[in-house]
Amino acid sequence: MPTHPPARSPRPPHRPLIRPPARRQMDRREFLAWLGIGAGGIAAGGGLVWVLIHLLARRANDRLLAALATEAAATAQATPQPELPSPPIVARAAWGALPPDHTAPNENGFYDPETNPEGWRAYLPPLDGVYTTVVIHHAAFYEGDDLATLREIDRLHREDRGWADIAYHYLIGKGGAIYEGRPINVRGTHTAGYNTGTVGVCLLGNFMTEYPTEAALRATLDLLVWLAADLGLTHLAGHREFNPDTECPGTFLFPYLDVFAAAAGLARGTAGYIKPPEQ
Ligand SMILES: [Zn+2]
Repeated sequence: MPTHPPARSPRPPHRPLIRPPARRQMDRREFLAWLGIGAGGIAAGGGLVWVLIHLLARRANDRLLAALATEAAATAQATPQPELPSPPIVARAAWGALPPDHTAPNENGFYDPETNPEGWRAYLPPLDGVYTTVVIHHAAFYEGDDLATLREIDRLHREDRGWADIAYHYLIGKGGAIYEGRPINVRGTHTAGYNTGTVGVCLLGNFMTEYPTEAALRATLDLLVWLAADLGLTHLAGHREFNPDTECPGTFLFPYLDVFAAAAGLARGTAGYIKPPEQ
């Protein structure tokens, strides 16, 4: 009697011919070492990307600086100085500046050369007999957008510094908007010891850690060319040149001060500072 061959179970089609060695669990020490290598690799990779991004940003900034310097030289030669129109300026009310507070502790009441020399000082016209120097600042922070940053500066100057109003006369946004700060006929509070007769212009951002935008730089150029002509300015300085204990206006903005001065036909530095006569 023929016997049936024993039924075979079908061979699994995927059965490997060579079995992999059994996996051994990493022990705790090996796992930590592996984790360390992984984290080190990620950190090294991240570091490389960071270096690359910063090299590219620096190269773009160097090119922009060179291009604006060339344009500035041409502007200085081509611009007929008087009769320049004002660039568009966003008025105080449009960004939510509060009215001046004349009870502020550090700018209390109104100026009087004898009794209240630090008070709110509105210059008598003409202003081109008052101002000689424009001082460039940075905000040293940026909070979300221009308007939020402006309101925070306004708040800091009133509540923390005890001033009657925002310190600067003009502020420049990252997209190139020019904002009206303290009215231009009133003395600012932006440069300790040198506020009388200086215009304060502040670019929003922290230029110790970031480059200024091209839009902000171009807006600043437009503003300064106009201000220099309108107010008869002679000099341009960075805040740290007057007050060496500050980093303002930041290492990444500082090289542009030469460009601003060249475009506006101004000398660089603090030597033109003259306190206007008491009125
Ligand atoms: Zn400053």
